[in-house]
Amino acid sequence: METINYEEIQTLENGVKVVGGLEFPQRKVWVKTYGCQMNYHDTERILSHLNPLNFTLTDEREGADLLLFNTCAIRDLANQKFYSHLGNAKHDKQRSEIKVGVGGCIAQTESKELLKKYPQLDFAFGTDVIDNIGEMVFRLYAGDKKFAVTSWDRSENYSIETKIAHGTPQAFVNIIKGCDKFCSYCIVPFTRGREKSRSITEIVNDVARLVAHQGVQEVTLLGQNVNSFGKKNGESLAQLITALDKIEGLQIIRYTTSHPYDISDELIAVHGTAKKLANHLHLPVQSGSNSVLQRMLRQYSVEHFLERLAALRQVNPQIVLSTDIIAGFPNETEAEHRATLDLLDKAQFDFIYSYNFSARKGTKADRMKDILTKDIRGRRLREIQAHQLKIQAQVRSEMVGKTYRVLVEGKGSMKGQLKWRGRTSCFRIVHFIAEEENVDKDFLWHWVDLKITSATALSCQGMIVHDYGKKLD
Ligand code: SF4
Repeated sequence: METINYEEIQTLENGVKVVGGLEFPQRKVWVKTYGCQMNYHDTERILSHLNPLNFTLTDEREGADLLLFNTCAIRDLANQKFYSHLGNAKHDKQRSEIKVGVGGCIAQTESKELLKKYPQLDFAFGTDVIDNIGEMVFRLYAGDKKFAVTSWDRSENYSIETKIAHGTPQAFVNIIKGCDKFCSYCIVPFTRGREKSRSITEIVNDVARLVAHQGVQEVTLLGQNVNSFGKKNGESLAQLITALDKIEGLQIIRYTTSHPYDISDELIAVHGTAKKLANHLHLPVQSGSNSVLQRMLRQYSVEHFLERLAALRQVNPQIVLSTDIIAGFPNETEAEHRATLDLLDKAQFDFIYSYNFSARKGTKADRMKDILTKDIRGRRLREIQAHQLKIQAQVRSEMVGKTYRVLVEGKGSMKGQLKWRGRTSCFRIVHFIAEEENVDKDFLWHWVDLKITSATALSCQGMIVHDYGKKLD
């Protein structure tokens, strides 16, 4: 694929940009993103590549020139929503001269079928060609029709520069892509390829640049299994965090997603030493039953998982833990389901993301004979969620009276009252009302100390103790 020479892009007096001899007037792109943070981060990269081609983001689908769908293959619900949204794009197409593209995990595995089935679709692109989106959109406006780009990046190294366009102090930074784990229910190794890590040197320089020049103060290190980071290059996530911890001006380091098998002693130790590492870890366990974990090919036992939690709590008593649970894995027995409820009691998570099992085409779990019904799955999911809510209410009640530092992320109306909301280092959202004298003050992206006045399983309220403004230093 030809590469656009971004340095040779000309801007005419009327604002039209000329790229490779083709005129690009100001256009609007509308993007619908499904799924995980990785996908949201990919969307950001897409936008940064489309900006030189004169595209700006719009929230209004009706006024857009280009519709993009960044898809997720993991969750059934996200899948269904995507197909329905793509189906609706045929009405957009009838209304105006818009172009439509689909990217992400579904496009990686089903691009040909999508292009055949949906006449309104102009192009499809996979997960490993995000950085070529500019070339694809150039092709599109040069007259190319109905094409798919789903090739894998075959280079040994994974090297990128983080692109952010939002201007906020929070940034996602990809550190590893792909996954070698092949859990029996998961499609990711097929849609994102094998594991490949960036180098520590490159990531540290990247983050230092974001902090120095783009006002970033909080980074989330991203990957399908970040705990495998650097394994093939003789580096480790613990080493990376230790190096990032030294960057002046950076306040919070988070990482996701983790795999319990790969949480090493070295990494746990860093939770006690790295000052900027968040007091939170999301560690997906998926089930509390060893036999189910074996069928999931998760490589760890419940005992190992609980031992890792205990070790984390020992090095950092402030740490808050959360997890993912799949309800109703094929042929899960009532006893196996009860073992998950038992694990919730033992682990005392701050929150969980829980889902009903839904088979993903092409995975081992999809080929398992399964006797569970939708009703059984639904009932088990409800039991898991109700059980966790009780635990959560207790865990969170312990916050009351304590003071937490939060980064204010936004505001909204709650029961007719305007409330600001911020996130603690331990990933809890806290709402607060500005005092009367500060009712017009803009707290967005301020660091504030909040004393917790009430906390339930699902919401937490605080009162402002101190406002540091936009910088802590
Ligand atoms: S570790 Fe995560 S991304 Fe990798 S196969 Fe398992 S569930 Fe999927």
